[in-house]
Amino acid sequence: MIPNPVKEQIQQAVDQTINSAKRVSGGSINQAAKVTLDDGATCFLKWNTSADPRMFIVEEKGLELLKSADTSLRIPAVLTTGQTDDGTGFLLQEFITEGRSKPNSARDFGRALAQLHKHHNDTFGLDHDNFIGRLPQSNTPNQNWVDFFIKERMEPQLRMATDSGKLGSDTVNSFKKMYEKLPDIFPDEPPSLLHGDLWGGNYFFNQDGNATIYDPAVYYGHREIELAFTHLFGGFPSNFYSAYEETYPLSSGFSKRKDIYNLYPLLVHTNLFGGSYGRQVEGIVRQF
Ligand code: ADP
Repeated sequence: MIPNPVKEQIQQAVDQTINSAKRVSGGSINQAAKVTLDDGATCFLKWNTSADPRMFIVEEKGLELLKSADTSLRIPAVLTTGQTDDGTGFLLQEFITEGRSKPNSARDFGRALAQLHKHHNDTFGLDHDNFIGRLPQSNTPNQNWVDFFIKERMEPQLRMATDSGKLGSDTVNSFKKMYEKLPDIFPDEPPSLLHGDLWGGNYFFNQDGNATIYDPAVYYGHREIELAFTHLFGGFPSNFYSAYEETYPLSSGFSKRKDIYNLYPLLVHTNLFGGSYGRQVEGIVRQF
């Protein structure tokens, strides 16, 4: 089930034999398996025969950056990553077993995310580009959040959506009108270390009840964009938000700005899946 070249390369890299492999349902993008090594360690393997294999190399870098922030968030350790001669990328990480939340789990998660966001940088962006889903995510550093949001988040996705006909060219004018208002809308904040793709499908509570985050698209950004995305598909538990607020309060009026930040994931979803996501984008920008 695991392509042979992937298996061979992993065995060489970790200097162990893969004893067993069981397919697990992966995310929306990659194939995944739970594998057991000689020494009994269980690992989570993702691979993809058709996507850009650099995807996994930068995913490892992102996970390591999140780990280096040293919060109480559980982040899987990476054992190895690479690509085979035929261009299949793979990532082998520690397997973490999903459990149930305990009474303080969501609260601790909110506090820990706030602590992650207290890790600041001089500029928005990152020293390398990465991926959001399977789409490229440009992180060219910028000192100004509004410029970064327009140049690195809105424009590449908007161009992709109009080039493919998923959004009409009239939408571009609405975006331009919105851009002019952004300096008065976004509150000044220093660049915060973000997971970058934090929705309900990219975290779970492990067997100890600790929030475990994975599959990141890390960069230094305005922390409100991260929180806005947590609200987009159903929201996180309410005590997650209250603990976040207690630890690192947001500027007033965040709920009015939420939709603007969520243009980014909605544009990404428009480009990946089309359909109603494009209409949601149009509904938000037409208000400007
Ligand atoms: P994709 O990149 O394809 O979206 P994910 O990294 O989101 O894949 O993983 C898919 C699913 O596998 C997750 O929703 C989660 O349930 C599970 N998962 C992710 N990482 C681990 C891990 N380290 N250990 C165990 N299960 C994991």
